[in-house]
Amino acid sequence: MSHSLQNCKITPYYRNLLDSLGPDHPLRRTVEPLDDCMLASGELTDPLGEEAHSPVPGLVHTYPDKVLLFATLDCAVYCRYCTRSRLVGKSSGDWKLSAEVFGYLEKHTEIRDVLISGGDPLTLSDAGLDDLLSKVRKISHIRTIRLGSKVPAVLPSRITPELAGILVKHRVWLQLHFIHPAELTAEMTCACDILAGAGVPMVSQTVLLKGINDDTDTLAKLFYGLLERRIKPYYLFQCDPVIGSSSFRTPVEKGLQIISELQGRISGLAMPTFAIDAPGGGGKISLLPNSQFLRDGNEIVLTNYEGKEYRYPD
Ligand code: SF4
Repeated sequence: MSHSLQNCKITPYYRNLLDSLGPDHPLRRTVEPLDDCMLASGELTDPLGEEAHSPVPGLVHTYPDKVLLFATLDCAVYCRYCTRSRLVGKSSGDWKLSAEVFGYLEKHTEIRDVLISGGDPLTLSDAGLDDLLSKVRKISHIRTIRLGSKVPAVLPSRITPELAGILVKHRVWLQLHFIHPAELTAEMTCACDILAGAGVPMVSQTVLLKGINDDTDTLAKLFYGLLERRIKPYYLFQCDPVIGSSSFRTPVEKGLQIISELQGRISGLAMPTFAIDAPGGGGKISLLPNSQFLRDGNEIVLTNYEGKEYRYPD
């Protein structure tokens, strides 16, 4: 049975990029509608159990000290493997965080970290974003604001010195989304130069996608390219089991194999953490290739990336 995940939207910039890469480039499959979505067992419309952890609409509270806010339901493009395909692209444009959300943030003094996502918050206007960030910043126990976005990859012209100024003013961390080295274009580099030059700290998250980026050379190129542009690779995620995502999902062993091959080959600073976001809201669980650690009396036996043993007195 085929299953249509969600709306299709591709920016003219990303469309040109895909066209320049040719008709068979794997990146196309991530945004273009294709009849290859099969329903597989274990898939869910809400794989991370966000609805069950949402005390007020637009806010998800899973971890004790951090929350996720859905600032908008719009994105610049819609990714076919999106965990939130149940939500994104579904608004009539009138989605807004309610006063109840800010009341919840004020009341819960244990919250210190707010991740603003959606949807993509960089699709908001400068004024809308400034207003939202000001409201969050007014709450004194909130120390860190992160903003999740794919905009520098798919709509780099949205990044302006004015926007960077707003992010710096509110001391925002950008948590970006890149999946392939083909996204590291001159325009994207220019956008990242504006952000890094203004002092916006940036990390990136990559979803491991079958046939698109699931090989060591591709990811080494991506992670080094991000680092060069002053973006720290943060997470490499196993694709969430959202409905219709089976054609994108790799076996977990594949990710472990890639991480194992990357260790020692690329700089530690370019290495992301490989993780699964536990289905049902269990949070992120990091995975490491096994057999790295063994005790032998008063020594720890460590195995390096070449499979050689080293002993640490302990
Ligand atoms: S940009 Fe992010 S939120 Fe939007 S469709 Fe892609 S993965 Fe989902």
